[in-house]
Amino acid sequence: MSYSPALIPSLLSAVSHVIDANAEAVTVLDQTIGDGDHVTNLQRGLAALTGLADSVASLDWSSALQKMGMSIMSTVGGASGSLYATLFLAMSKALKGREVDSAAWADAFAQGVEAVKQRGKSDLGEKTMLDTLIPAAAALQRGTAEGLALPALLDALDAAAAAGAESTRNMLPTKGRASFLGERARDCLDPGAKTSQLMLAAIAQVLRDAPC
Ligand code: ADP
Ligand code: MG
Repeated sequence: MSYSPALIPSLLSAVSHVIDANAEAVTVLDQTIGDGDHVTNLQRGLAALTGLADSVASLDWSSALQKMGMSIMSTVGGASGSLYATLFLAMSKALKGREVDSAAWADAFAQGVEAVKQRGKSDLGEKTMLDTLIPAAAALQRGTAEGLALPALLDALDAAAAAGAESTRNMLPTKGRASFLGERARDCLDPGAKTSQLMLAAIAQVLRDAPC
């Protein structure tokens, strides 16, 4: 899996498309257990990243992720802005000076997710985006260690993210705004867990279709 940053414009376009296509459904979730702005926060960040897409496409992965992380940090409000910025910046650091193959991606994504846990002071089981990101990162690491071929690796990533997002349905939130709702937040997917699953699925689809 040695994709070039030239893929960034198509990755961003696929991610923006899936967020726009699911905006209404996710906003209903966020109006139920959050303050209803999650989709607009993501769309603001994605618009800023799309503006940078062509210029970062000619950089190396580490520099591209760093520029994108800084852009997210300065344009997206809300918890999700600083958490996604942290993810990108930690991945940038992990990939610095490395050959970017499957193992490097698995390692960088795991380090990025670890940084999000620390930044959000949160972990698995608290009804957040981490319930998608932690199992997705673990599946990528497991699959890479087992030497799975790319299509199987992407399928494993997809399946883990989907199961992770779905697992938030019965969880009680303890972090973020949803934590004030207690039992009223049950039976509702976490919006951030759902959008991270949608974005990972869109990324996996672009990678399946791209020559590498
Ligand atoms: P805000 O909560 O500040 O309004 P958003 O609406 O953009 O920010 O994002 C809400 C999402 O962010 C939640 O659905 C949840 O997945 C995620 N989130 C909130 N707080 C945390 C945290 N401490 N750790 C991990 N994820 C969090
Ligand atoms: Mg919100």
